Order: sequence, then structure tokens, then C-alpha cells
Amino acid sequence: MTYRAPVDDITFTLKHAAGVSRAIEQGLYGDLSEDLVDAVIAEAGKFATDVIAPLNRVGDQHGTPFKDGRVVMPPGWKEAYRDWAAAGWNGLAASADWGGQGLPHALNAACIEMWNSACMAFGLGPLLTVAGVEALAGHGSEELKRTYLPKLVSGEWMGTMQLTEPQAGSDVGALRTRAERVGDGTYRITGQKIFITYGEHDLTDNIVHFVLARLPDAPGGTKGISLFIVPKFLVNADGTLGARNDARCHSIEHKLGIHASPTCTMVYGDHGGAVGYLLGEENRGMNCMFTMMNNARLAVGLQGVGIAERALQQALAYARERRQGRVAGATGSSPIIAHVDVRRTLMTMRALTRAARAICYATAAAIDRAHRSDDTAERRSAHERASLLTPVAKAFSTDIGIEVASLGVQVHGGMGFIEETGAAQHLRDARIGTIYEGTNGIQAIDLVTRKLPLSGGAAVKACLDELRETVVAVAAVNDPAFGHTAARLAEAVECLDRATAWLLGRLDTAPDAALAGATPYLRLFATAAGGAMLAEEALAAVRTSGPDPAGRMAVARFFAENLAVQAGALERTVVEGADSIADTEAALA
Ligand SMILES: Cc1cc2nc3c(=O)[nH]c(=O)nc-3n(C[C@H](O)[C@H](O)[C@H](O)COP(=O)(O)OP(=O)(O)OC[C@H]3O[C@@H](n4cnc5c(N)ncnc54)[C@H](O)[C@@H]3O)c2cc1C
Repeated sequence: MTYRAPVDDITFTLKHAAGVSRAIEQGLYGDLSEDLVDAVIAEAGKFATDVIAPLNRVGDQHGTPFKDGRVVMPPGWKEAYRDWAAAGWNGLAASADWGGQGLPHALNAACIEMWNSACMAFGLGPLLTVAGVEALAGHGSEELKRTYLPKLVSGEWMGTMQLTEPQAGSDVGALRTRAERVGDGTYRITGQKIFITYGEHDLTDNIVHFVLARLPDAPGGTKGISLFIVPKFLVNADGTLGARNDARCHSIEHKLGIHASPTCTMVYGDHGGAVGYLLGEENRGMNCMFTMMNNARLAVGLQGVGIAERALQQALAYARERRQGRVAGATGSSPIIAHVDVRRTLMTMRALTRAARAICYATAAAIDRAHRSDDTAERRSAHERASLLTPVAKAFSTDIGIEVASLGVQVHGGMGFIEETGAAQHLRDARIGTIYEGTNGIQAIDLVTRKLPLSGGAAVKACLDELRETVVAVAAVNDPAFGHTAARLAEAVECLDRATAWLLGRLDTAPDAALAGATPYLRLFATAAGGAMLAEEALAAVRTSGPDPAGRMAVARFFAENLAVQAGALERTVVEGADSIADTEAALA
């Protein structure tokens, strides 16, 4: 079963849960119209369905063989990438000054979901290129921008993001790759990076590496890290490719999933040092890297949504076809979708996928508002909203990517465990999402220690207030189709409110207790916010006679009555669970 982009679903969530329609009305997006949104999503859906999705299996089976320093991408990939870039998809949200289309991040987020649904290993490369574009556009000198941005925006060259070293994973401050000043404004880079996605491949003529390194006189930790652009081939003054730089791929990893994404060990300076160009200021590299990482974190969250959507589609198709047992009243054997336990599984998959999608798109829309609003206060509050939601979007969506893919295997029974079915690949591919771009544990810590205290807690309070407004609106329509949605969501929001206050009260006085609750808190946050966003979408579907209002109400209700009810347990875990972790030496001995 192949993937079919759920264009109507995506467009509706974008317009209503993420508020793109309202933003268009308010003039936030210039002359962007709803018709253009429809057209872009439809076209992206067609490309994802027709061109990228067929690459998924061949990429998984072929992998990326490595020989004589070269990586060979799977059959058909080069042509597909060329056509994808030529159609302008890489530069969708990039500035028109550099050849991009200047369209909203929210629109790009929807496209990223579809590229990754179609084939996660394919979607991953451009995801990092686009993150590099953001960092370069935000922090680069005019000369660096002129040299690299047009080709990175067009997709003629791809980018990589290089933090990780054997001793420096989550602890980026431990990195040792060195950068030496050579007196002509350039630097020489020596060292080793591991796990570098698309560090080497044959899709593009040049690869632009964004490499974190340390100057000899730099302070220790993250305050002594600088970011460098290190191209695979140096670029001549006239823009043509020059000498091969002293940067090469030493080997590639053999992995559980995303087989067609080459994961490279990179070596710098075997011949005296790779030429590097400073991006931003010396020792301020983490500042630039955060621009890149925030962008990539949301995009990795969208990978979680994408893989969940694909797993759901496949499970639904199988459940309609496979016949086993007989439900009460049926004459012959029943399709397994008729069994209520299977329907519960499928509804769980759908509700989690849609909730994660809504959270990710809302994050992208907040980024747009932070960049585009004329109002300084609104830009600031939107920036805080995006900062608050980014770790939630990344961690929740990749968590549910695995959960939904695993449920998808379950719906297939024994056939799910057999590779030919394809369901197993989704689970293998999904597994990396919770690990890279900052593990989900690190995301939860970021949410609790850095994002909750934003503006003295006002950012999270504003978010809670909005969730309450949705609950009130659901209660006000008083539609029996919503069942207990309003009541269950109201409880979830109050659980989130109390857990937030508890954590904020302990950040200074009992930081370990706060850290112990970080992961269940992030899930609680996503549960309350995701539930409210699904309800918001359902209300909009009824109000606008949008597609499938009954289905949307059913999904919102299912989420509220079956998943949001976990909020109470999550609150308890945050508030009461810390003590049980404090003294675990004997248990883990
Ligand atoms: C397929 C793949 C592609 C990748 N692509 C890239 C890439 O393109 N560029 C790049 O730079 N890196 C890349 N990475 C590396 C990836 O970002 C790291 O693996 C990730 O950041 C985790 O680092 P680590 O593997 O060293 O794990 P560790 O840091 O050793 O973490 C191990 C465990 O301990 C936990 N932990 C660690 N520190 C803390 C702490 N302070 N508090 C609480 N818990 C903690 C983590 O959450 C995790 O569960 C890739 C990795 C893989 C597998």
C-alpha cells in the first residue's frame, strides 16, 4: 500500500487549527490567498504521492553503498531530487532575495510533512539544507550569503549540520574539533564528526557543511564554540567550483532505519586543515546553531507526523481488507475494521496523528507571526509561543510517530512483522525521531527549564488561557456529538495548569524534582494542547461546513474521552513521581 497525501485534511488543519485563514484575513501573509494555499498543498501532495513515495521501499532495500570515499544514492533518487528542487520546493519559505518563494513557514511545514510521509530518508536531507539556509540568512556576512545562499535555496547544493563527536552528543559543549585562524579571514578546521546526515552523497555537485568547532583560545563549554561553513568543494570568485576541500567522509553507519539517508563519519584536516568560513561571530556559534536547530527540531517533529500518517493509511487499508472472525449480527467473516478493538486502535492512531499535526502547524504559524507581524508586542509573544511549542512539537510528534507506527504493525497482526508488508519499515524509520536533533529527554528539559520561565511564566499562561477559551467554546455549542469533550478537556487543562505551577515553583528550589517531571510534563502539555486543537478544528469544521465535520467531531471526542483523560495520571507523575526517582540506587544496582 503506497501513500496518498491527505491534502484536504492537511489544508483544513493548516487553515483552522494553525490559524492560516485568520492570518490571511489579517494581511499577515501579504497577497497570499486561500486559493494559493490550496494549490500549493495539492501540488506538493501530488509530487509526494507520485514521485517520492515510490522511492521509499527501494531506498530501504538499496541503502547507500559507500566505496572509495563515495556514497551512491539508491536508483531513482537523483532524478527525483533534481525534479523536486527544480520545482522550487526547497526554497518555498526562503526569502525571494535569494531565489526563494517567500511563502509562509506554516505552508512549508505542511509540505515537509508530506515529503517525509512519502519517504523519511528522502525528506531528511532537504530538511537540514533548509535549516542551514535559515542560519546563514540570519547570521552570515553578505559575502557568505552571496556565495552560498542562492545555491542552497535552489537546492543545487545541499547542506549538513555538524555538532556530534564521539564524546560530544547531548553535551555539545564537549566538542573538540579545532579551528585555527590563518590570518586571511579564513580558518583551518581539523577533527572528526560522527553521525552526520547526508555528509556525503551524489545528489548534488557540492555539499555545504555547517560545522561547530573550537578556536585555540576559546573558553570551555558551549560559550567557546564557533560555527563554520566548510564546503566540500571550495567556490571560486566567479561562483564555479574550485579545489576539493580537506573534508571527507570516512565511513557510513549501518542503521535500524532510514537506510537511504547516509549517516557519515566526517574527517577534517588530514592534509593540513579544511578551509572554513566563520558564520556569525567567534565563540557565538551556538547562537547561530540554535537558529538552525529550532528550525530542524520542528521539521523532525513533522517527520513524526509524516510517518504516523503513512502508518495509519496502511493500517486502515489492511483493516478494511483482512477478514477474521465475525462481529455480532454479521453473516460471513468480518473485515477486522469491524471489530471494536481494532477500531479503537485505528482511532488512537488517527487522533494522535492529527493532534501532533495541529501542534506542529501551530508552531510554524507562530514562527510566521514572529517574523511578519507589524506589531512589536505581537512579534515578541509569537516568538515566545514558537519557543514554547517547539520542544513539544518535536518530542510529542516523534514519540507518537513511533507509537502509531507500532500500532500499525499490530493492526497487521503477523504480517506487520514481515518486511514485505512495509509496516515494519515505518516503525524502524520512526525510531530515530526521538533521538536526533536533541533527544526527547533533552526537549522536555528545555521545555521545563527554559521555556516555562519565559516572561516570568506569562508565555505559558497565555497558552493556557487560549486552551480554556476553546473548552468554553466547545461547551457553548452543546452538541451531543461532542459527548464529554468539554468536561474532559477542561480537566486536562487544569491538570496542566497545576503541574506548570508546581514545576515553576521548584525550578530554583528543587531543580532535580523539576527535571524528574520533565518528560511526563511534556506529554501532559501535548495532551491538553493537542486535545484542544482537535476540538478547535472540529468547531471550525461545523462553523464553515468544512470537510467531514462529523468525522472531526468524532476524532476530537475520541481524543478527549480516551487520551486526554490520561492528563490526571500525568499530573500525578509530575507532582508525586519525583521522590520515587530520587532514591533509586538500590533498585538499579
Ligand atoms: C541516524 C542519525 C543521524 C544523525 N544526524 C546527525 C547530524 O546530521 N548532525 C549531528 O550533529 N548529529 C547527528 N546525529 C547525532 C544525534 O544528534 C545524537 O545521537 C543525539 O544528539 C544524542 O547524542 P548521543 O547519541 O551522544 O547520546 P547521549 O548524549 O550519550 O545520550 C544518551 C541518553 O542519555 C540522555 N542524556 C544525555 N545527557 C543528558 C542530560 N544532561 N540530562 C538528561 N538526559 C541526558 C539522552 O536523552 C539519551 O537518552 C545523528 C544520529 C543518528 C543516529
